[in-house]
Amino acid sequence: MEPTTTSAKATCLLCGAAASPALFLPRFAGSSCQGCARRVGHLLVAEPSLLTDIWPLLSEEDDELEAEPTVQRADGTTVELRQITAEMKRDLSIDDRMKLAEMYGDIGLIREQLEECGRVLVAAPTVDLAQRALDVLFSPELCSPRGLEDLRGRLFPA
Ligand SMILES: [Zn+2]
Repeated sequence: MEPTTTSAKATCLLCGAAASPALFLPRFAGSSCQGCARRVGHLLVAEPSLLTDIWPLLSEEDDELEAEPTVQRADGTTVELRQITAEMKRDLSIDDRMKLAEMYGDIGLIREQLEECGRVLVAAPTVDLAQRALDVLFSPELCSPRGLEDLRGRLFPA
């Protein structure tokens, strides 16, 4: 497969407009514009459960029966671990969040990885960072080949 051909004439596979700068969607060997990349990020963050046709691993539900681990704060209150990690992540730079997303993948937390990539896209990163997030999201391993039509429909409901 030919890697990015960022010619001036690249067309966004999602909205059909000219994509400049063009971001690359490896799974579909085509381009996305920055606006659509950000829209994808918003969808991923807001409604991941609607995107399971595109990213089947998003349906990996947290086990509802299993209690979320809790930790005790310095002041003695008990809070859920996920609340603490959310607070810690707020202070990370976008670059660090992208590293975190890549790390999630390394340790097999794919659902977390996909959602973290969504947050990176929402944060309107540099072209370089957006591309790293898209390389993960639209990798052949994680993205369904039938996902493109469906994703278009989600981004631009008729
Ligand atoms: Zn577009």
